[in-house]
Amino acid sequence: MSMFCFQCEQTAKGTGCTISGVCGKQPDVASLQDLLIHQLKGIGYLADSLRKIGIRDSEADIFTIEALFTTVTNVNFDSQAIIAVIKKGDTLKKRLSKLLIDSGADINNFPEAARFTIGSTETEMIAQGAEYGILSEQPNEDIRSLQQLLTYGLKGMAAYADHAYILGKTDDAIFAFFHEALSYLNNKEPAVDALVALVLKCGEINVRTMEILDEANTGRFGHPQPTQVSTAWKKGPAIIVSGHDLLDLEELLKQTEGKGVNVYTHGEMLPAHGYPQLKKYKHLAGHFGTAWQNQQKEFDNVPAVFLFTTNCIQKPRDSYFQNVFTTGLVGWPGVKHVKNHDFSEVINRAKELAGLPEKAGSTLTTGFGHNAVLGVADKVVEAVKSGNVKHFFLVGGCDGAKPGRNYYTEFVEKTPKDTIVLTLACGKFRFNHLDLGTIGQLPRLLDVGQCNDAYSAVKIAQALAGAFGCGINDLPLSLVLSWYEQKAVVILLSLLYLGIKNIRLGPSLPAFITPGILSFLVENFNIKPISTAEEDLDAILNSKVA
Ligand code: SF4
Repeated sequence: MSMFCFQCEQTAKGTGCTISGVCGKQPDVASLQDLLIHQLKGIGYLADSLRKIGIRDSEADIFTIEALFTTVTNVNFDSQAIIAVIKKGDTLKKRLSKLLIDSGADINNFPEAARFTIGSTETEMIAQGAEYGILSEQPNEDIRSLQQLLTYGLKGMAAYADHAYILGKTDDAIFAFFHEALSYLNNKEPAVDALVALVLKCGEINVRTMEILDEANTGRFGHPQPTQVSTAWKKGPAIIVSGHDLLDLEELLKQTEGKGVNVYTHGEMLPAHGYPQLKKYKHLAGHFGTAWQNQQKEFDNVPAVFLFTTNCIQKPRDSYFQNVFTTGLVGWPGVKHVKNHDFSEVINRAKELAGLPEKAGSTLTTGFGHNAVLGVADKVVEAVKSGNVKHFFLVGGCDGAKPGRNYYTEFVEKTPKDTIVLTLACGKFRFNHLDLGTIGQLPRLLDVGQCNDAYSAVKIAQALAGAFGCGINDLPLSLVLSWYEQKAVVILLSLLYLGIKNIRLGPSLPAFITPGILSFLVENFNIKPISTAEEDLDAILNSKVA
């Protein structure tokens, strides 16, 4: 059985995973995900049509974001979990279809994705998914490239919308766009201009999505504060929390309080330490390990429990398989799944294990969200005007396994002492152990947060532009980004929508971007692939072109 997936940066040979995923995704799961995406196009058509006649269906809204998020890289590898989502989607699709027909619509005008019936067995569904794969429908490579760019943008935005929804924040304009865009993807002869417009609108709507996520996070947990985080281990039972879901972390902290179990963050959860309503828990003991792609090595034989809350899971090794739990939309075959925030089994397992021994560590600093940075905006502006700060770099994005990602370490190491480096997302683990020193009171390395906090970086850039009376592209600011999966894709679309130019992107360009679409991006936005740290720094600082 074969598959085709090229949605993430680590795709096989830089072209596509065809035998099995580099991430561990098996062909049956890839096929089921293709079927789910096809189904979502049908649901998108139905929900979009219903909305146009004044009928909004909140079940369709939530199903759409959860199902899309399920297909993001490193989220769910469990075929049974994906089949359950497809079956739920089928029931929803039938209900929406009836609603639309009852409103006078003719089923013969529905696209195939809104009419088809799912197979009754797993084998049939897998075979169906194989028919709806990426390569099956659109022969024009540039159009397929734009369709996939839009699809991956939607997947990434779904992750952010779901995080906001979990914390009680939604916006109907966001749901409406998901359905509008999914509906358009049914079009057998799409117009390039219409697809480009939808791709950029995806970036625009994602800015709003990230805004409500920022409101959701800061509303619930307070504004992040600059915080030093220990990487040392304390002796005793431990639960290590990976992923991005702050609500899961908060619930776990509540349920472990006074139970003699320490909770550590892992990977993208590091910025949680900056939030007042999370850092107040004394047993939030520190940060464990580095970025997500090192988990198999770092978790090996560690007698602690590992809880995965969102994307980032890799195949657990036998030495710790029994100690892994997933929650939310995450799944791995055979791994125990926590529902409804009931972490009792997780806590009991942590207590059964020997726990961490005492181990020395170092210190990482996080918590420079927009509120903290803009709180000292006058000092930042003064430092630029006095010449003490010559340039800002935003070096952020996802981390991954490729050796080419050492570029980001070298780049940050070589940044001149009169420059400031803003960072966010797990790409920071390439350099957040470095001591870059300070400029006056300002640390030279400012961790803005998770990839979920990209809105914070945009707000900082917009405020700086406002203070200097110029546009973001006129600031002494350069963006040097690393991408891995679909959340990075949608952030890139948001930056393009905001008109930000001259972005350097690495470690390699997306396999789903054809030379034709790349030319369009270069022509309109001057996106460049990364070169070497020396060359890029020289070009940025000496040509005075960002
Ligand atoms: S998500 Fe990435 S690694 Fe996994 S199958 Fe797709 S392209 Fe390959």
